[in-house]
Order: sequence, then C-alpha cells, then structure tokens
Amino acid sequence: MTKINLKDVLRTPKGTRDLLPEEVAVWQKIEERAREVAEYYGFRPIRTPHIEHTELFTASLGEASDVVEKQMYSFVTRGHDKLTLRPEGTAPIMRAYMEHGMRAWPQPVMLYYNGSFFRHENPQRGRYRELGQFGFEILGDDSPVADAMIIRMLTLVLEELGIKNFTVHINTLGDKECRGDYKKELVQYLRKKVNYLCKDCKIRLKQNPLRVLDCKDPNCAEIKAGAPQMIEYVCAACKSHFKEVLEFLDELGIPYLLDHALVRGLDYYSRTVFEIFLDEKKPEEKKKKKEEVKTENAEVTEAADAVKPQEKPALNIAIAGGGRYDYLGKMLSSKDIPATGGAFGLDRLTDAARELNINLARKKAPKLFLIQLGSHAKKKSLALAEEFRQANIPLAMSFSRDSIGSQLKIASRLGVGYVVIIGQKEAFDETAIVRNMEAGVQETIPLPRLLSYVKNKLKSK
Ligand code: AMP
Repeated sequence: MTKINLKDVLRTPKGTRDLLPEEVAVWQKIEERAREVAEYYGFRPIRTPHIEHTELFTASLGEASDVVEKQMYSFVTRGHDKLTLRPEGTAPIMRAYMEHGMRAWPQPVMLYYNGSFFRHENPQRGRYRELGQFGFEILGDDSPVADAMIIRMLTLVLEELGIKNFTVHINTLGDKECRGDYKKELVQYLRKKVNYLCKDCKIRLKQNPLRVLDCKDPNCAEIKAGAPQMIEYVCAACKSHFKEVLEFLDELGIPYLLDHALVRGLDYYSRTVFEIFLDEKKPEEKKKKKEEVKTENAEVTEAADAVKPQEKPALNIAIAGGGRYDYLGKMLSSKDIPATGGAFGLDRLTDAARELNINLARKKAPKLFLIQLGSHAKKKSLALAEEFRQANIPLAMSFSRDSIGSQLKIASRLGVGYVVIIGQKEAFDETAIVRNMEAGVQETIPLPRLLSYVKNKLKSK
C-alpha cells in the first residue's frame, strides 16, 4: 500500500485555494453586480459543462497556443473519451450555440456565463490553476458596436464596483488576409534577430510568430519594440471596423491605449482584441494620460504615434480580456458566425477589491439579536429567523453559546437596538421577550405577534 503523505493531502493542490467566508462574500457581490449589469443590457445566462471534448479546444485555440500546448487538464475517461477540463469559456459557448441551433434565434444571441476554468499554469500572484471568470458573448453580430458593447459591459462592472483606475489596451489583428501580409513582414524582421530571441520565441517564430509580440522576456521586448506594426498592414475594411470600435469607446468615455503588442495568443481571434488593466495611477495623472490617449485616438492610421510596448504605463495586472472571434464558427463547423466576447477574472477582481479596500461585503448592520436558550428554543428560533429574513430585517444570532450573559454581550458589542430572547419557558408558552437595549426595559410578546411588534418598534426608532 502506498503511504499517504498527510502533509500534502491537508493542503489544497498547487495553484488552487480555499476561499474563506470573507472572500466569498466579496466574490459573490462582484458576481451579483455583474449579473445585474448583464441582465439589464439583455444578456442571458448560459452554463456549459466543466468538461468538454479535448478536440473542441485543440481545434479552436490552436495547437501552438500556450493553453493547448502546456495548460490543459486532459484525460481519457473509463469509456475512452478524450476530455478536457475547460480552460476557457468561448469555445464551449460557440459549441452550445451550434448544438442548440441558436442561429435560428433572433440575432445577435447575447449570453453571459460565470464559473470555474482550469489551466495548468505556474502559480504566482493572481494566477491560479482553477480560476473564476465572468464573461459576456455576443454571437451572430459582426458590427463594431458589439465589440464596444462587450468592453462597455466589463468596464461598467468595474465602475459599479467603484474601480475607476483602469485602462483598456486594444489592438486589431485584422482578418485572415491582411494578417497574412503582416505575418510575412514580421517573420522577415524576426528572422534577422533570431539569435537574440529567447528559446521559446525561436519556436514561436516557426509555429506562431505573432506570439513573439506577447513575450515578456526583456531581450524580446527590445526586439518587438522595433517590429512592424499590424495597424500598418490591415486592410481598409478592418481599419474602418477598428476605427469605429474606438469611436464608440470615445463616445462612452472609456480610457484606452492602442497596444500593438497585444495579440492574445489564441487562433480564433480576429480584428478587435483587448485587455483591461488596473493601474495604480493617481486620478490627476490618469486624467492627463487620458488626454494624451485621446489625441492618439484621433487618427488610428497614424499608428506610429501609438503607445509602444516599452512605453506602457506602470500597469500591473490584466483584470479582463477578450476580442472578436469571427473564425471560430468556421473552425468548428462550416458556418460563418461572427462573434465577440470578453471575460473578467473573479480571482483578480476579488483580490483587487480587497487591495483597493472596496468594501463590497458590507452587510446591513443587524438591528436585532436573537437569543435562544436550550434546544427547544433553538428549534423555534430557526423558523423565527426565517420570518425575519423574509421581512428583510437584518438579524444576528449565536447558536453555539448557551448562556444568556455571553449572548447579551455579543448583542451589545454589535450595537443592536433590540434583543429577542426565547428561553425554555417562552418556547413552551409560544412567547418571546423583547428587550430594548438602550432603555433596558423588556416585554413578553406572543410569537404570532412578534414580527409585527418588532417591525413597529424598529420603524419608530
Ligand atoms: P484570458 O482570456 O486568459 O485573458 O482571461 C481573462 C481574464 O481571466 C484575465 O484578464 C484574468 O483576469 C483572468 N485569468 C486568466 N488566467 C488566470 C489565472 N491563471 N488565474 C487567475 N485569473 C486568470
């Protein structure tokens, strides 16, 4: 029998973590706000399985993508199916769109999702192997406004959470044809510098040269700063599509930077790609930056002026990302399904909300404390607590402490106005004692009248 290493077993697997009550509270608030925004703008919820056929991802994300190459949790089942824990949400949603004949629904189909995704990445700050994402997808629409709408949804959620210091990094990847022209130029340029590229980029140059632009290695950063820029090669149709997306963002006052190094690394992307970064700049600096950005936006074609990778402001971490994926439909079937989407990371947003001291988990302060003494009273109290919850009266109680003294102590520490006490006698008589904590007076009330009595007291307070 193999010996179990209890030290390991008693820890979450590498790259995963427990979310404790306080963190879950923040997480849930974020989900709640995002859901409100999504529903308000007409997005509808979808849930897809945590497992999918492995080929769904290999056929769509690209064999040479980091996700497929290094990060997927793939396995063969007892029934010999090749399955993968979903590393991302877009391909499954496109699969669902096709499987359920959503092409016959009124277009576009606007969906949102929320759940866990799995990537075997090297864990570090803000990078986990099980990660939460909340995403929006618009399928069956090729217009620039759909791209802007996705960005709007994501930034609205940030604003709703009180997060103001963010910047949308945005780029266009063009379409198949114009991207091909660009790739040729890029490869020509990179070949001249191949000896200075990092080991991974030497491979990328052969398999997926655009991904060299994604590399974080300082040597490669220098090389890519001098690389030809996509915007100079995109065709007129792609350029005008991109320009319109930017105009919508201008209209909505969403701060953005043209980022020529942004490629997003998955094969299904075309045209608009973006990532949203939280920055730590102070509001004054931020305003200045926004003005500079606006000037840049004025003429997309003058791309040489746009922000070069090494000039990126000191932004720390991507909180959301997405883009247009007009070719995904074709990759999975023969159908042309223009679509666009984006998702934010719940782990990073929860961490950011905590770092920024955004108190999302603020509960309504309890107005009432329920004291129960003895098991009979505790049983009565459970039903009572539910009555108060349904009446929307914030209530605190302690089921674990038996003495009235310790329960009263907690009640006074919480600063509640009233305490409801149910002892053995009261439980038997179907009554409760209501104590006014400030005045120190108390009254015995029959249980059927308790709710209305308490409501009146709280109203007159
Ligand atoms: P992506 O589509 O990979 O850009 O992911 C969208 C968002 O999900 C990112 O901007 C992050 O906020 C979040 N995210 C991606 N990968 C991870 C990870 N390994 N751990 C935590 N969050 C992640």
